[in-house]
Amino acid sequence: MWTNNARPKSFFRKQFLVIVGINMLSLALASGLLFSNFVNDYTDNLINIARTKGLLLSSASTSALLFNDQQAATANLEFLQHYPATRYAQIFDTNFQLFAKYVREGQVVPPFDKALSFGGSFRNNNMYWYASIDMDEQTLGYILIVTDTESLQAQQERYALIIILVFIVSLLLAYILNWHMQKRLTTPISQLINLVSNVAQERQYNKRLTLNRNDEFGDLFRGVNLMLETIEQHKTQLQGDSARLENLVKLRTEQLQQHSDRLENVVQLRTEQLYNRANFDALTQLPNRHLLADRLSHGIVKARRESKMLVLMFLDLNRFKVINDSLGHAVGDQLLSHVAEKLSGVVRETDSVARWGGDEFVMLLEQITSHDSIVKIAEELVKSLDAPVLVGDHELYISASIGIAIYPQDGDDPVSLLKHADISMYKAKERGLGEYCFFHPDMLVQSVERLSLENQLRAAVEKQQFFLVYQPQICIISGKVVGVEALIRWQNGPVVISPLVFLPLAEEIGLMHQITQWALNEACQQNWCWQQAGLPKIRVAVNFPVSALLHAKCLEDIQKALKTSSLDAQYLEIEITEDSFMSSTKKAIDVLQQLQDLNIQIAIDDFGTGYSSLSYLRDLPVNALKIDGSFIQGLGQTRANDGIVQSIITLGKSLNLLVVGECVEEQAQLDILSSMQCDIIQGYFFSKPLKSFEMAEYLEKGIEANDITATKHP
Ligand SMILES: [Mg+2]
Repeated sequence: MWTNNARPKSFFRKQFLVIVGINMLSLALASGLLFSNFVNDYTDNLINIARTKGLLLSSASTSALLFNDQQAATANLEFLQHYPATRYAQIFDTNFQLFAKYVREGQVVPPFDKALSFGGSFRNNNMYWYASIDMDEQTLGYILIVTDTESLQAQQERYALIIILVFIVSLLLAYILNWHMQKRLTTPISQLINLVSNVAQERQYNKRLTLNRNDEFGDLFRGVNLMLETIEQHKTQLQGDSARLENLVKLRTEQLQQHSDRLENVVQLRTEQLYNRANFDALTQLPNRHLLADRLSHGIVKARRESKMLVLMFLDLNRFKVINDSLGHAVGDQLLSHVAEKLSGVVRETDSVARWGGDEFVMLLEQITSHDSIVKIAEELVKSLDAPVLVGDHELYISASIGIAIYPQDGDDPVSLLKHADISMYKAKERGLGEYCFFHPDMLVQSVERLSLENQLRAAVEKQQFFLVYQPQICIISGKVVGVEALIRWQNGPVVISPLVFLPLAEEIGLMHQITQWALNEACQQNWCWQQAGLPKIRVAVNFPVSALLHAKCLEDIQKALKTSSLDAQYLEIEITEDSFMSSTKKAIDVLQQLQDLNIQIAIDDFGTGYSSLSYLRDLPVNALKIDGSFIQGLGQTRANDGIVQSIITLGKSLNLLVVGECVEEQAQLDILSSMQCDIIQGYFFSKPLKSFEMAEYLEKGIEANDITATKHP
């Protein structure tokens, strides 16, 4: 808006022109009036002079007219020669006949115009004065005086010159004054405009106006300077605030960027973690069942397309639950990690090892071309777990059972293959530790039966559908009953199911601890009842499988059973098997030592069939060895068998342990054992396992059993 500098200048120029124009008009008007007054005065004066001269000549010519004296009249007119301006003068009689005249030299007298009016008048650069010559109200004649108007013209020119000069001078003064005043006005306004323009366009708030005046412009300039000073202060403050704000924004932007980067990293990390969590087992870092199912589906598609085999191996660790329950989950988890490493080391790069859950692993083998290569891998997997694993100060022994299903012969979809491999694994378990088994359709029927039995067993545990039978143990030397072994039976409706059938199943599905606990309570209670009934005080032996022995609550359960039944600890015997030491020797020894400290008897059952090293038997806290029934059955048949039995008895003697021969059914077996100095006999030769009331009767039949200390052979 301030770029067009012509606009304010144009305004002042117009204003100047208007003022000068008004001045010119006023001066012209005044000059005209003045000139007119001057001319009027002068013409009046000329007329007055002409009238005076006319009156004088009229008076002087009266007598000449009366007496018709033309000479006298002419002489009077000669008087006008002293007035050079007079051009001519005429006196007429009443008939307008020329009576006398005066004509200046060189002048031409025109004919008299009778229409001429009395008085002065101007015509054709001449002034006419015309009047009648009267005497006593009688007209004697007429007089006409004509003068030139050169003096009037000269006077007019002079007046015009003076007025023009005055006009020019006045106009010049008006122009100068106006110009000066306008400059006084436009200079500060121009400064103000320039300042405002600089401030508006270039933000130069440090500029100041320098006009030093005491009028309104001075006040305006001081006000503007003060306003600019205030604006500059605010600007400086704003610049400071702006710089601080800019730094703050910069800092915040950097912080936001860093935060954004961190957030991005966290999101990426979380995404990877979520993917790993969804697809990999957190403990072993192996693919989980979700990822395995995915790979299995793809593997089947690929195998179908290439017409190749695909092998699925379902691997379950044996006795892992025992370790987990006895040594805690931390030890169990470390063991699983070691197992995962071992299994991964066996399979090829093209194969997958996944953790199915718990102690179950699944191997997916692709690019398999022969049955032999499947067998080889299965054997290598079993063998890889042979060596003990050291976790902390525990030396742990583990074994696995493997079920194998093959695509397409055992199933053409993931669910079928997994199911059939799982069923095969249970079949492998039935065959013993460290076995593998290929799927066969017959297993499906067995699997259904097994599932049914499993459900019934769970119900039996809940309803306590078990009972105990007791088989007496007889001292060879004294012939006295020194103890009974409590044996569990399952009353499944009308059918009694053998422990050989349901105990392995109970072990697999985790019911062994509950069943053992029930048997323990029942045996202690029964023994106390017999004692209360006045029967001989004998000890009752309860079988403790390894899972029950190594259970975290084993000691607590036994103490509770003794306390509840009020049975003295010396009348309780715990039978364990050699594999109690297979999982964790240290843990087993700790538990046994505490039991022995309670004065509870410890016997190793089925001795001779396990793989325990005889070297540590010396330090075990046990009281008795029970020779495995298979050796007793073979007595007298081979020298090797008899040698083994003799060696066990000799070993027991050397370690100051009682030796028990179980499953004795014949006199010959009894004789051989007696000759070998076996201490105690148990078996059908003396008695089958008896129900509690039968056992009470057995004790009452006169066989005295008032001493539980069996007589040892010397
Ligand atoms: Mg037993």
